[in-house]
Amino acid sequence: MLRRKKFKGEEVRKGKERMVACFTGKGISLVIKLQYTLRMGWHELPWIGRVLLLMHLVHGVFSWGKYGHYAVCKIAEGYLSEDAMATVKTLLPDSAKGELASVCSWPDDIKWYYNWHWTSSLHYVDTPNFKCNYKYYRDCYDSSGHRNNCVTGAIFNYTNQLFSAYQGYNPMLNYNLTEALLFLAHYMADVHQPLHVGFIGDLGGTSIKVGWYRRKTNLHHVWDTLIIDTAVKTLYGSDVSAMVQAIQRNIRDAWSNDRSSWESCIYNNTVCPNLYASESVRFACKFAYRNATPGTTLQDDYFLSRLPVVEKRLAQGGIRLAAVLNRLFSFQVKIRRTSR
Ligand SMILES: [Zn+2]
Repeated sequence: MLRRKKFKGEEVRKGKERMVACFTGKGISLVIKLQYTLRMGWHELPWIGRVLLLMHLVHGVFSWGKYGHYAVCKIAEGYLSEDAMATVKTLLPDSAKGELASVCSWPDDIKWYYNWHWTSSLHYVDTPNFKCNYKYYRDCYDSSGHRNNCVTGAIFNYTNQLFSAYQGYNPMLNYNLTEALLFLAHYMADVHQPLHVGFIGDLGGTSIKVGWYRRKTNLHHVWDTLIIDTAVKTLYGSDVSAMVQAIQRNIRDAWSNDRSSWESCIYNNTVCPNLYASESVRFACKFAYRNATPGTTLQDDYFLSRLPVVEKRLAQGGIRLAAVLNRLFSFQVKIRRTSR
């Protein structure tokens, strides 16, 4: 509660200062992550739930779900052009110390707060049960029916904000470009998580209760966090950097022929989230939901066969984030456009 009050006082600040305020309490991410997993707000949690969450904070447990966002942004950093890297650094909050990957979970850290609650529907898009396809005009709306309030709508929106500032003709538009960058980097990762484009009936796997080895959880959380956490712990010596490096090696070797097709968008568009979402729901049907009915305990078979899918989606998210930022922050393109 104290943390909440402290943050509220900071809310009036803008831009970079607002980012700094959000990084004052690392433990807070656990609460947010759990609420996100449950898709409910703090006030909707039963009091016992709040007490348990605060107890976790006291014990300093944190960092759930951070690895995926860290990996996507770290991979992207490696493929940024000089122009893009320079612009990203000018936009990053001071707390990032020049590292995009260190702040890519920020939208998960804030969506719990009242002033940011409107962003909570921007992390995913639900699709009709068992259709295994996605359509923007059919699927992109929030629980109140507001159109464009979903992960693909958010990616279009924040790309447009950055485009109008860096490639457009009206640099005077009053957008917070630091926030736009961090939202874009985060949602680009989210849209690549297959169950962020899952079925509406099970809330993207959130209501499918499963076992993960010896613990109880839900299928959405398995894909958000547990596959990655288990891989980092058991295959990469508890070092997320080792996992990122392994993915980077795959991008250079096994997936080297795929990279340019991952980067490109139809009609030379700056970004193509509808494509990423369509891929995700196909992966959800083919890999996430398969053999994971309610009550199943998922173990080695599931973990080892799905980990390559997770790693490939992290790679695609990173490569595509870099490609979008390179297009947005390419000053040659702007010079070419304005000199026509
Ligand atoms: Zn998210």
